[in-house]
Amino acid sequence: RFITFEGIDGSGKSTQARRLADSLRRAGHDVVLTREPGGSPGAEDIRRLVLEGDPDRWSAETELLLFTAARRDHLEKTIQPALAADKIVICDRFADSTRVYQGITRGRLRAKVDQLHSLMIGCEPDLTVILDMDPAIGLARAKGRGGTEERFEDFGEDMQVRMRAGFLALVDEFPQRCRVVDAMRPPDTIAADIAALIEGC
Ligand code: C5P
Repeated sequence: RFITFEGIDGSGKSTQARRLADSLRRAGHDVVLTREPGGSPGAEDIRRLVLEGDPDRWSAETELLLFTAARRDHLEKTIQPALAADKIVICDRFADSTRVYQGITRGRLRAKVDQLHSLMIGCEPDLTVILDMDPAIGLARAKGRGGTEERFEDFGEDMQVRMRAGFLALVDEFPQRCRVVDAMRPPDTIAADIAALIEGC
């Protein structure tokens, strides 16, 4: 099974993805926990190209191509081999992040995002957990983390509001696989909700 976590910056995706991986492992499952952008040596190199250095180095279009190249490598080298070996793959962000970030908020490239996805990726998760969070709180949490990736978080609250709406709209677009979880509650409560979703899928 292929499970992805999505949501705005600071919504707790990495924490909840790790918690789910830990609990499934404790239950005896073979789990691969991975992330995007990145998740394979080549894709991690591309992550650095996109996220480090001058933020204006790439146009929105070039950035979309780089994210798609990274996803293709991640799929070939990490995700598909794990699924073929009957492992559970848990991924912190996947194509939905590109649909929202490159598709809506950075450059409005959704038509191109879809074309590249069907041309080069062509696969969807079995379950996508969308962690929904107040953008102001998410932004504050993401900024508190620091690091080289802040340029994406420096878009400010207005952009975070659009991103939140973008993630929530995915539920209407992909109702079979997308589930929204209220990420404003304590981490244990969120983890319990996610565990119940996994049992039901
Ligand atoms: O989730 P993580 O913090 O690792 O993502 C790194 C940065 O890349 C984030 O600030 C996120 O906004 C950005 N990103 C993006 N487009 C994607 C995926 C992530 O702009 N498709």
